[in-house]
Amino acid sequence: MRVAFLGPPGAGKGTQARELAREWGVLHLATGDMLREAVAAGTAVGAEVERYMDQGALVPDDVINRLMAERLGAAKGFILDGFPRTIAQAEALAKLLKDRGQTLDAVVYFDVSEPELLRRLTGRRVCRACGHTYHLTSSPPKRAGVCDACGGELYQRDDDREATVRNRLEVYRRQTMPLLDYYRARNLLTTVSGEGPVAAIREAIRNSVGAER
Ligand SMILES: [Zn+2]
Repeated sequence: MRVAFLGPPGAGKGTQARELAREWGVLHLATGDMLREAVAAGTAVGAEVERYMDQGALVPDDVINRLMAERLGAAKGFILDGFPRTIAQAEALAKLLKDRGQTLDAVVYFDVSEPELLRRLTGRRVCRACGHTYHLTSSPPKRAGVCDACGGELYQRDDDREATVRNRLEVYRRQTMPLLDYYRARNLLTTVSGEGPVAAIREAIRNSVGAER
């Protein structure tokens, strides 16, 4: 099984990718983790990644492509989580796979409505004292605004504010819409609803890529 999961931040790709990678016995490659691990490993590429991240800049496609090639190694199956994100990355991936005599089986797009994404992404609250995180709808504290663990005050991080989240979603949409067309034109795109029970979404993904339980 060689698939890529695409979807906006908050669509739930990571959770599904982790579980399904285990179920299918394939590699789970998440771009965010991959970048953090490269930095932590202190390799030459890692140092390069760190410079971009410190500047708050996007890590360029060629660096991500190089890391992806390295991490894919000799894996026969994989789930790419959050990659590719641009047409340039998609083309690099196609070339990489072609060189290995492989192709992508499917690209799964996680469709989640904007109000639902906003609810998921703006609901996080963090304890000022101990750092414990809560979510207003999925794991609320017993008393509003107060940490269950230590009684500290809960606050919303700047990253989780509605204006910031809307901006992130807009950037994602601008980058990804052409990518959906790219994969649609190649008959690889399949869309699943990323809303509803986690198990039902998982089953929809299995069906969409033709995987047996
Ligand atoms: Zn606390």
